[in-house]
Amino acid sequence: MSRIKFQTPTGMHDILPEEEKYYYFIAEKAKKIADFYGFGKIETPILEEQSLFEKSVGKETDIVGKEMYTLKTKGNDLLTLRPEGTAPVARSYIENGMYNLPQPVKLWYFAPFFRYERPQAGRYRQFWQVGFENIGEEGSIIDAQLIQILSNFLEELKIKNTIIEINSLGDKECRPTYKKKLSSYFKKRENSLCTDCKKRRKTNILRVLDCKQDKCQPIKTNAPQILDFLCVKCKNHFREVLEYLDEIELPYSLNSSLVRGLDYYTRTVFEIFATDKESNKLALGGGGRYDDLINMLGGREIPACGVSLGVERLIELMKKQNEIEEKNDAPVFLAQTGNLSKRKSLKIIEEFRKKRIKVAESLGRDSLRAQLNRADKLNIRYVLILGQKEALDNKIILRDMETGKQEELELDSLIKEIKKRLKK
Ligand code: AMP
Repeated sequence: MSRIKFQTPTGMHDILPEEEKYYYFIAEKAKKIADFYGFGKIETPILEEQSLFEKSVGKETDIVGKEMYTLKTKGNDLLTLRPEGTAPVARSYIENGMYNLPQPVKLWYFAPFFRYERPQAGRYRQFWQVGFENIGEEGSIIDAQLIQILSNFLEELKIKNTIIEINSLGDKECRPTYKKKLSSYFKKRENSLCTDCKKRRKTNILRVLDCKQDKCQPIKTNAPQILDFLCVKCKNHFREVLEYLDEIELPYSLNSSLVRGLDYYTRTVFEIFATDKESNKLALGGGGRYDDLINMLGGREIPACGVSLGVERLIELMKKQNEIEEKNDAPVFLAQTGNLSKRKSLKIIEEFRKKRIKVAESLGRDSLRAQLNRADKLNIRYVLILGQKEALDNKIILRDMETGKQEELELDSLIKEIKKRLKK
């Protein structure tokens, strides 16, 4: 009989403890940054109504058109594994009447997302994002501050060689004129566009601008630029964002082809990339303003701005640039030999736990040498050795691995003695 081998679904992976420490580290840093800037953590369900993403991200985007995992429930509801975080947060803002809270409402998340994409290096079907959303303020200073938060966060993670690209997509006043202009420009050059862009021209014209195909590059270069079509309000908003960034001396590069691909963005959009020696760019995250989203989802006209970062990409860089140290924080190791000492060990460990002193052990091992090797590997200063004889006499040996000094202690006063040493 052949055995069935189960595997994780394509593009998804287990996060084992070795890897988990990076996720934990990033979440901790994100929390610190979030606390400082006044963001509260939000957790939304993993499943949302399919139409939430159709209405916000847009039916003609790759995410909605090709990449959503949607299931039909027994009650015939169409639910989608969330492919991104902004729409669920906006839904929650409306549903929970967060208009009534003092504005802006600042929320952050650290959560898994799902996109049915072709798996490749740095691209998965389940991946994690950390995101920050500032809802309820329209000032350009908010956009600049989010970019500053993004930059500070990467600095906290010690991720170097990053570049911020920025653009403005205008708003519902000025964007339609630009889109018309762009459409007629590409229509005239339709035959030179790649197959995808021929479709995009009709369904999501801005996406033609971020096509990566060689064929489309020369046509894109001479395409009309959005910045030339911005209305006065959008122009001023964008100028102010750049002025704020100059003020805090945060370098950026203008990229008129940056469109972010999702329907809900208005005005400022930005992305952050890591660059390597060969100048290859890895997208770490991005965001922008979404002043119409809450209204698109049936809420009031509430301006907002947000950013999200791909956690796996951050981890990839952290591993390359600065492996986080493995810290063992147990000051004591308990080694035991013989049946009686094994039996007493569980009780001793409990006493340590009650006094909140972390104690490492290797209870499954019988060989003293193997246990001492483990203590050595963990770099633990105080090793307790409970042999058969000591167990009978109600004693225990304490070896200070730093000085090599060894002494015998009464089991009854063990915790007190260890505490004394830890205080030194
Ligand atoms: P987006 O909102 O699509 O620009 O995604 C923001 C960031 O999330 C990207 O810059 C990536 O770092 C990360 N990301 C997006 N899609 C994936 C994926 N399929 N696998 C891993 N990371 C992803």
